[in-house]
Amino acid sequence: MRQIFLLILLFVVGQWLVKALRRADAHNAQRTGASGGPAGGRAAGNGAGAQARAAKAPRLPEPMIRCVECGVHAPASDSIVVAGEPFCCTAHAQRHAARPTGRDAR
Ligand SMILES: [Zn+2]
Repeated sequence: MRQIFLLILLFVVGQWLVKALRRADAHNAQRTGASGGPAGGRAAGNGAGAQARAAKAPRLPEPMIRCVECGVHAPASDSIVVAGEPFCCTAHAQRHAARPTGRDAR
């Protein structure tokens, strides 16, 4: 009976150790990653092991663009560019295009 208890205790301690190691790993990746920005912090917040591994892969920081219509900053991959002007979404691009003089309306 005592052996079973010992086994369970060992298992729990092992799990805790793995979790602690992963957390330390993620912290290190964040610190060495540098300029990861708030986006990186959000990803690490979930604490998933798979995400920590993915964060280790070298990834270029994504450029941010500013929506001409609403002024929101969005990652370049999520934005669309119409007539040389960046927008956060198609709805804003359409709204901007529908307005005859976008600058004067504001
Ligand atoms: Zn917008």
